Amino acid sequence: MEIAGVDAKVVAEVEKEVVDLLVDLIKVDTSNPPGNETETARLLDAWFRARGLEGQIVGEPAHRQNFILRLEGTRPGPTLLLLAHMDVVPAEPASWSEPPFGGVVKDDHVWGRGAGDIKNLVAAHAVAVARLAASGRDFAGTVIYAATADEEEGTDCGARWLVQNRPDLVRSDFLLNEGGGEFQMVRGERVYELLTGEKGTAQFRIIVHGEAGHASVPLHKGNAVVDAARIVQALYEYRPDVHMETLPADYVRLLVDDDDLCRRLLEASTARAALAELHERDDMTARLLEPHYGITFSPTIVHSTSEAINVFPEQVVVSVDCRTLAGRGEDEVRAEVERALAGIEAPWDVEFVGSVLGNASAAPSPFSAAIDRVMERAVPGAQMVSLHCVGFTDSNWFRAAFPDVVAYGFGPYIEEDASITSDLCHNHDERIHVRDLTFQAVFAEALARELLK
Ligand SMILES: [Zn+2]
Repeated sequence: MEIAGVDAKVVAEVEKEVVDLLVDLIKVDTSNPPGNETETARLLDAWFRARGLEGQIVGEPAHRQNFILRLEGTRPGPTLLLLAHMDVVPAEPASWSEPPFGGVVKDDHVWGRGAGDIKNLVAAHAVAVARLAASGRDFAGTVIYAATADEEEGTDCGARWLVQNRPDLVRSDFLLNEGGGEFQMVRGERVYELLTGEKGTAQFRIIVHGEAGHASVPLHKGNAVVDAARIVQALYEYRPDVHMETLPADYVRLLVDDDDLCRRLLEASTARAALAELHERDDMTARLLEPHYGITFSPTIVHSTSEAINVFPEQVVVSVDCRTLAGRGEDEVRAEVERALAGIEAPWDVEFVGSVLGNASAAPSPFSAAIDRVMERAVPGAQMVSLHCVGFTDSNWFRAAFPDVVAYGFGPYIEEDASITSDLCHNHDERIHVRDLTFQAVFAEALARELLK
């Protein structure tokens, strides 16, 4: 295996170490719920101790703890936090070709739940930190290694717990987390996503009120099921206001090679119609771009309060996954819901179920410049695009707690492009190419050296 600018012997050493560690990590079932991340924290503690490094296991409850290790360089300087979560989403073994917690290495891939989200980075960052230590800590500043609990489901015991309860351990100037680093091949070159912010969530329920009663005589007005169906349809058809402030214009230009369509996609007044056109021509690209234009509504659950087939329910509850642009909150969502449902003649209320305000870090920055330089050397011709994550990562808690931190999502791939890697996360047969895993470790070490020169 080759990585540009890196000695083949070093690549081979890193490969062995990072594959072995990822295999061991996958064998510990940290499906969330219930998580049980402490067992993985202990594994990491022992792994680092075997290399002469001492970290600490912190958190609560006792079975959901985090592992943190701080490595001081030989000179003063800023602090870089390498973050990755230890928990994974559950796996249904019957759907897998290899056991999800078996840690099988086959066909140049490490197979198992967490291989791509995100035990790969738990392993890659660990190898990077161990190598920085073994080579004499020749850097200016501090590198913090953090393997955290509870990202996939509750978000209570991991990153959020740490920033609230142990800010002394995790406060940092720069934070490298999961989320970005996949690439697409565009006209023969790799285009990488650097995630510099996250959209927020404002999930809500619409409670539709109806007339309860016996269903033997049809209700032409007041059947909450029929009204809920109209509400679902209206939300689906509604096109929320377009906001261009976080739209990655250079990404649009790279992905859409029709100049006229591109111009319309980059203009607020024409963007919705242009997106509809793009969905017809190239649905995959349209799906990549659409979430960056504003609020999204995705109805996901419809639930009736009556379980009896012969009874009109008093209420039907429509649950909607809603994502908002960074910095925009519930008030805006409420106004958009009211507009979306203005034509519906049925009594309904909206109820939010826990919102998180999306946030972002400055970009470009000295951090993104260092990432660019490392990528230029390792992947000649690579192009970097900054954009916001349309989902959610733990970077949000760090930005909210430490407003000065520059937090990005970037764990770069080099072998398999996003058309392969993005489908594997949270799916059966999750796996990572050994070359990608090795590159992620090489990259993290090189970035720490470049940033903390
Ligand atoms: Zn993840």
